[in-house]
Amino acid sequence: MPAIYIGMGANLGDPLLTLQQAAAALGQHPELHQVRCSSFYSSSPMGPADQPDYVNAVVAAESSLPPHDVLDLLQQIEQQFGRVRLRHWGERTLDLDLLLYGNDIIRTERLTVPHPGLTERDFVILPLAELAPDLKLPDGQTLDTLAAAVKTAPSAHDLQKIT
Ligand code: ATP
Ligand code: MG
Ligand code: MG
Repeated sequence: MPAIYIGMGANLGDPLLTLQQAAAALGQHPELHQVRCSSFYSSSPMGPADQPDYVNAVVAAESSLPPHDVLDLLQQIEQQFGRVRLRHWGERTLDLDLLLYGNDIIRTERLTVPHPGLTERDFVILPLAELAPDLKLPDGQTLDTLAAAVKTAPSAHDLQKIT
């Protein structure tokens, strides 16, 4: 069963509570196994600055669902939490991105895996490295190397572990 990693983000309503509930929803899904959630991190927004701070975390699971079915599932949960998408990289109640699906490289109209932001976003790298420090990306980069680079560089958006 491939290991899958899901990036979660929110910045409307009560973002921490939303992510905790989204992680619980993933944990209860019958097709997702061995579900684990990272610590939660806050950061200032990456897109338009006139929006609340974000909370981010990563969930690890194992699943035999095909990748597009995982995306369907993530989009269903986003909808359940009343996701509204106002503008690109704008505020949202819940964003669930499929970061990695085993060692697969996927490029379809609906799905790009590994998620293109993964290696550039400290709020993805640090929680992912917590769950899987020995993980290797399909291109051979290891998570602990990426995380070490993040830890030595000053955060561009005030990333803080909150819980
Ligand atoms: P970003 O992808 O830069 O984090 P975003 O998460 O705000 O931006 P969304 O509005 O959530 O972007 O998603 C836009 C579209 O991205 C979705 O409709 C989905 O089909 C597509 N998409 C492509 N690859 C992925 C992926 N790995 N995970 C989630 N959605 C993806
Ligand atoms: Mg996203
Ligand atoms: Mg998204």
